[in-house]
Amino acid sequence: MSEKISIYRFMSAGCNGCDVQILECLVPRYKLAELGVEVVFTPEEANVLATTGGINVKGREELKKAYEKLKPPKLVVAVGNCAITKEIFDKGYPMVGPPDQIIPVNFYISGCPPRPQAIVTAIAKALGATLEEKEDYWATPEGFRGKHEFDSEKCMGCSACAQVCSSDAIDVLEDNGKRIIKVDYGHCSFCAFCQDECPTEAIKLTQEYHLLTDNRSTTNVTNEVDLFKCSSCGTYFIPVPQVDWALERIGNEVSEYKDFHSDLKTAIEVCLNCRREIRNIRNAKKLLAQLSAKVRAV
Ligand code: SF4
Ligand code: SF4
Repeated sequence: MSEKISIYRFMSAGCNGCDVQILECLVPRYKLAELGVEVVFTPEEANVLATTGGINVKGREELKKAYEKLKPPKLVVAVGNCAITKEIFDKGYPMVGPPDQIIPVNFYISGCPPRPQAIVTAIAKALGATLEEKEDYWATPEGFRGKHEFDSEKCMGCSACAQVCSSDAIDVLEDNGKRIIKVDYGHCSFCAFCQDECPTEAIKLTQEYHLLTDNRSTTNVTNEVDLFKCSSCGTYFIPVPQVDWALERIGNEVSEYKDFHSDLKTAIEVCLNCRREIRNIRNAKKLLAQLSAKVRAV
């Protein structure tokens, strides 16, 4: 896109953090004016619509009207996670959308909110312009939380991260003997609870914030682990690395139970349904109950 970019901001249900970041992009240090970018106040003057926040029932018709009034090429950018997935407003009774179910969306910029630098980079990309590379311009402050990264050597597929996720952004999927942990950063509030709660420090929020995509289905990172097959019925039921981790931890922390290692392994390798049926692992089940109490006390 080589012509001037005139952006109309469409704000809907949200905290307005993303809208503030769009305005922040206009300060002189980002040189957007030199690239021919301006913010306008009516959709008739604009050729780009930047939508922020989740869309509610009232906003739906307004959004459609604004889109109709845009000048060509009618580019629509969903800025921030509420505009992409509704995020924390997802379950609100008046909510509709997300916007790509109402009007065509060309680009998505994930973040809660996205940094001005991420928005500026996206605009420059649309213009085919090159931005100055200065470290202090792009550097992130200490403690900044961006896109997630898995250490696949450490992740054991336990799903603790999904259980503590404040935004319901982590799915635990099972398919063909694999467990897949899928983080949708388009749905994420970047709170880092997952990072704090992971028992093996396998998930980290990196400094990566350039999260522009033209394909909504790509706003995720995944990790997969093998599942254990029940030694009795053959059903996949527990991640292999989680069994190894549990046995190693028990061995390290409760030395007197080392002698019962093979009984324990037998018990852990049998799924819950089969454990109810099989009499000869009763002792191992008792052992597991005692161990749980003991390990909790360590
Ligand atoms: S990232 Fe951590 S908490 Fe999440 S499944 Fe992997 S090991 Fe468990
Ligand atoms: S940082 Fe982790 S826990 Fe927090 S919302 Fe995002 S995925 Fe969920």
